[in-house]
Amino acid sequence: MSTTAQSVWTNCLNFIQDNIQPQAYKTWFEPIVAVKLSDNALSVQVPSKFFYEWLEEHYVKILKVALRKELGENAKLVYIIKMENTYGNKQPFTERIPSSNRSAVKSQDIDVPLNNKNPQLRNPFVIPGIRNVKIESQLNPNYNFENFLEGDSNRLARSAGLAVSAKPGGTSFNPLLIFGGVGLGKTHLAHAIGVDIKDKYPEKTVLYISAEKFTQQYIDSVKKNNRNDFIHFYQLIDVLVIDDVQFLSGKSGTQDVFFHIFNHLHQNGKQVILTSDKAPVDMQDIEQRLLSRFKWGLSAELQTPDFETRVSILKNKLYRDGVEMPDDIIEYVAKHIKSNIRELEGAIISLIAQSSFNKKEINIELAKQVVEKFVKNTKREVSIDYIQKIVSDYFQMDVDTLQSKTRKRHIVQARQLAMFFAKKLTKASLASIGSQIGKRDHATVLHACKTVDNLSATDKQFKKYVEDLTKKLSV
Ligand code: ADP
Ligand code: MG
Repeated sequence: MSTTAQSVWTNCLNFIQDNIQPQAYKTWFEPIVAVKLSDNALSVQVPSKFFYEWLEEHYVKILKVALRKELGENAKLVYIIKMENTYGNKQPFTERIPSSNRSAVKSQDIDVPLNNKNPQLRNPFVIPGIRNVKIESQLNPNYNFENFLEGDSNRLARSAGLAVSAKPGGTSFNPLLIFGGVGLGKTHLAHAIGVDIKDKYPEKTVLYISAEKFTQQYIDSVKKNNRNDFIHFYQLIDVLVIDDVQFLSGKSGTQDVFFHIFNHLHQNGKQVILTSDKAPVDMQDIEQRLLSRFKWGLSAELQTPDFETRVSILKNKLYRDGVEMPDDIIEYVAKHIKSNIRELEGAIISLIAQSSFNKKEINIELAKQVVEKFVKNTKREVSIDYIQKIVSDYFQMDVDTLQSKTRKRHIVQARQLAMFFAKKLTKASLASIGSQIGKRDHATVLHACKTVDNLSATDKQFKKYVEDLTKKLSV
């Protein structure tokens, strides 16, 4: 190895080390080996394609700054990806990629069985020391147990969370599935568990990720032909938190890969924490085998908080923000915003803002105005899934029937009503409504809306349906 490559890289590392978290540095920079320097191009060797992509995604800026400091404006970084052959062949498999040209990544996937029990087979994602080093957990330290106030509505979920964080992987709450409606604290609680585990077990690798981002990463890994690296990465985690798993519905590829990761983690006594806006029984388009695993541990519901809890959440928030507010105002807000803690906080924030912008005193009158706006603006927040569920319950059929291709009159009417309410109560486009309600096109939805309008003007029974459903769907 050339000493110049080494010395340039050492200087880069010193700069990088000063600018990022020590753990990130250990995980992502210590394993890099400087290999060669030619003109203004430094070649470094990284342990895997996934590693390279992680660097490119998260650290390309700092790498650029560091290298330009050393080699001037035209500095270039060349990654050499080292991969060990899976089947124990000592011959290293090497690949060279110019950092400026991602498309030059050659796909050369290594096929590793997912549940790899055979010690002969080697994991290609070998990062020295990674098991002892934490991957950046993506946790938000502001979401902790201390400021997650307890109430009847969350007691079970909260204590289950505490039990899990006391003994991750060591309770029967594995997976722990936290479910409940929008803005009731699922994300907060999931983070709190992770934050607490990191506190108690600094050596554990905790990772928080939304199901949406997980899906995106998975799709990318398929595109870039490193699905196995993706899987191995997740199999290294000790505590995996996946937020909003309902997002996986209908995404069979991601469900499949998650199924394998889940099994691996579970078999190895690792903790999995999931959140969802529905109970497992109500989840749609999630494979049965995955659903059954969701039910292995504990499903704990976050319910809407009662009045007392709402008041204490508000008081706690005001206290932490250093704002004083008369009790009657706090109670007024807590009394009128019931179904969503995020909105509850939003209303208080906007109340504070209103009063300081307009130099108005915070009084009941102002509280009324703010709350009214909030309640009005948020009234319509129902999902198309929810509408379909309510409509099919009302007509005593299941959602599959409602979505089916049948021309039976009462089913067609139910479907048209679902479309009508989806148009009325959500911001979704006609096309999107159509695709979610039985894969129809936008013209069908438009026709449905017109039909419902016409029928409710001419048919008494039908008008009654519309009225009943309007009541059931009003939040
Ligand atoms: P969800 O993920 O269920 O939609 P979030 O976790 O994002 O909801 O919570 C919405 C807001 O309400 C966040 O600001 C969170 O801090 C707050 N919140 C939720 N539950 C509580 C609680 N029990 N105590 C204090 N704040 C809470
Ligand atoms: Mg959330």
